[in-house]
Amino acid sequence: MIENRKFYINGAWVDARDGRDHQVINPATEEPCAIISLGGQADTDAAVAAARAALPGWMTTAPEARIAMVEKLYDVYKSRLEDMAQAISLEMGAPIEMSRQQQAPAGIGTTKGLIAAAKNFAFIEPLGDHAPNDRIVHEAVGVVGMITPWNWPMNQVTLKVAAGLLAGCTMVLKPSEESPLSALLFAEIVDAAGLPPGVFNLVNGDGAGVGSQLSAHLDVDMISFTGSTRAGKLISKSAADTLKRVSLELGGKGANLIFADADDKAVKRGVLYCMNNSGQSCNAPTRMLVERSIYDQAVETAAEVASKITVGAPSDEGRHIGPVVNAAQFDKIQGLIQKGIDEGGRLVAGGTGRPEGFNRGFYVKPTIFADVTPDMTIAREEIFGPVLSIIPFDTEEEALTIANDTPYGLTNYVQTQDTGRARRCALALRSGMVEMNGENRAMGSPFGGMKQSGHGREGGKWGLEDFLEVKAVSGWGTDD
Ligand code: NAD
Repeated sequence: MIENRKFYINGAWVDARDGRDHQVINPATEEPCAIISLGGQADTDAAVAAARAALPGWMTTAPEARIAMVEKLYDVYKSRLEDMAQAISLEMGAPIEMSRQQQAPAGIGTTKGLIAAAKNFAFIEPLGDHAPNDRIVHEAVGVVGMITPWNWPMNQVTLKVAAGLLAGCTMVLKPSEESPLSALLFAEIVDAAGLPPGVFNLVNGDGAGVGSQLSAHLDVDMISFTGSTRAGKLISKSAADTLKRVSLELGGKGANLIFADADDKAVKRGVLYCMNNSGQSCNAPTRMLVERSIYDQAVETAAEVASKITVGAPSDEGRHIGPVVNAAQFDKIQGLIQKGIDEGGRLVAGGTGRPEGFNRGFYVKPTIFADVTPDMTIAREEIFGPVLSIIPFDTEEEALTIANDTPYGLTNYVQTQDTGRARRCALALRSGMVEMNGENRAMGSPFGGMKQSGHGREGGKWGLEDFLEVKAVSGWGTDD
């Protein structure tokens, strides 16, 4: 059993001032695998004070020097990849191969993209040829509270920490209490990279405690949050009294529009994408909208693909999917699968209960419903498990109406060989991201949503700007 009750504050590992023990549960065994401390107000205050004290020095450090520090952090991170993969696999159940290939390396890609963006970023730039004496200065927002989820833990942590550091912000990270082990390791990495004390601080805690304390804190200038829409609303409310900047990356209910002329891998790709990480991705394409003329074939293909997805222990090598993160998620997913059945969805793969061979662990059967209608609960709520809903459509207009008929707006997907239609759909879909024909968005492309998926942008140039203020200066002079 791992025991680590320390927090990282002002460049040192310190005991909790106001902590209580918390067991981290291994989702594969339902047994505790670690004990950490959840901090309280005194811990939050100490971390915020350290970040506040470090701010004047860090925000005025030349961008080149900040970039050099983040490059060092990047190198140390790369040297600890296997440890990171093991930590993530243990705490949230990602199969070890997936953890090595996707979860842990996600922190590399995000940091690399942000470093590249910072190198090309003009922190001081002219307003325009018409105003030679004016400058626009992009300066750090200040002290940032960073609150992250468990599902892609290092992706989220590095998107915030690397961007904040490059922008000149100092920070207090509160990772999810479900995934504190990867975050504690990340703090070791920061420590080894040699950042000045107080620039980065980590306090473990839960949402009601450290999360709310950061959101309401007078000395915190910004909250950068990734997590559920529910918590995003609460954070916005507690941040309102201090009018701090709030950047939100929230839930999603992505539609995947598959037209009759889609490539022949489109359905398979859509199913696998939805089931990856046991369906626990905010940008998962969980609503598969299929043009009527290929609908029956698509349902058959999808069911066949799902039947070949194996479920297995996180510690086993192989390309299976693992358990979902905790008992609450397991129960929620089971309830939603039952609701799908009760409301008339046609189950073509999976269903309620654990997969065969499992009597413990939060394992869920890869599940597919066909003949789903847009008003069913499974078509509307974010399930956050390996559950796909297939919905038929007749026209492009109908597909777009169904796709946009959701409070969310994170990522939508389009599969068609018709370039004109693809572009029409990309422009008509109300989401922060549209991915077409299986092509991933490139490094440096901003990640973020519209509507109740939040309004932050992470990654690349836009990810830096999230942590920067815009200052307009006149009378600068023209001689530089
Ligand atoms: P969650 O909202 O329960 O928790 C996320 C974080 O917020 C945790 O650190 C938690 O302790 C904290 N928190 C909870 N309530 C809080 C409160 N009232 N005040 C302050 N902090 C609070 O979400 P989760 O279950 O950890 O993660 C899953 C959710 O995250 C899903 O809805 C998913 O779609 C979303 N997500 C979004 C993105 C994105 O970029 N849009 C990425 C990953 C996950």
